[in-house]
Amino acid sequence: MKNVVDFEPSKKGKYNWNTIFFVATFHLAAIGAFFTFSWANLTAAFIVWWFANSWGVGIGYHRLLSHRGFTASKWMVRFLATLATLGLQSGPISWTTTHRLHHAFTDQERDPHSPRKGVWWSHMGWIFQGTAQNQPLSVRQRYSPDLMKDPYLVFIDKYYWVTSLILAAGLFAIGGWTMVLWAVVLRVTISWHFTWMVNSATHLWGYRRFETRDDSRNNILVAAVTFGEGWHNNHHTYARSAKHGFTWKEFDINWYQIRLFELLGLIHNVYAFDLKTQSEAPKEMLKAA
Ligand SMILES: [Zn+2]
Ligand SMILES: [Zn+2]
Repeated sequence: MKNVVDFEPSKKGKYNWNTIFFVATFHLAAIGAFFTFSWANLTAAFIVWWFANSWGVGIGYHRLLSHRGFTASKWMVRFLATLATLGLQSGPISWTTTHRLHHAFTDQERDPHSPRKGVWWSHMGWIFQGTAQNQPLSVRQRYSPDLMKDPYLVFIDKYYWVTSLILAAGLFAIGGWTMVLWAVVLRVTISWHFTWMVNSATHLWGYRRFETRDDSRNNILVAAVTFGEGWHNNHHTYARSAKHGFTWKEFDINWYQIRLFELLGLIHNVYAFDLKTQSEAPKEMLKAA
């Protein structure tokens, strides 16, 4: 039998020229946005950023798909995953597989993006080389079998960039090409760095509430630009908890919205770690026990 983890993120991996070209082009084009400022463009970028990166990447890809921090109907799952594709951070199965590997091998040899291999590598180098975002089928089947059961998720995993084309067409109709530049190109470029900081900065700088075996830290700056994803030492300790900020000072916008979704009946069985009781199981489960 083959090694169960045929996945070796390495600086020796082949260069992914498609990704390099795509990321470089976005960075260069994003500079152009600064010459085409308007309040309408800024507002459009902000709104899309919120839905794509908070509801989509943070709540959808991360807290729901990767960690199953709550349950939701098939359609709610698909809705959040579709919003996340607008972040242009790969499809739901690829993202989740990478992230589950990160939690399984945090700051060890097989971690897809540990700063122990260099700050540049952990921030963006890891997507330019090797199979970090394009894992072999065997790895996906092992790490994301739950997601591969949904044909819709399999479909958007392959065509995750299509939603951005549709969005760009809509924005072009509303505000012309400068709105596309702001709400797609600039917004995606900046939010890439915000998300990448969760992989780089929160494994380097910040405070540690829990003595985990990895280097994870709680970083207020990263939390501020990622809707609460920067409370990363909390998160590595209680990974299933849909709540990442454990005190009122650790503001966690994604968590407040998850609570709201729960109150509205859109999601259920929310795992939320509580410092006092040291429990993260949903209230319904605790009552039943
Ligand atoms: Zn995580
Ligand atoms: Zn981490």
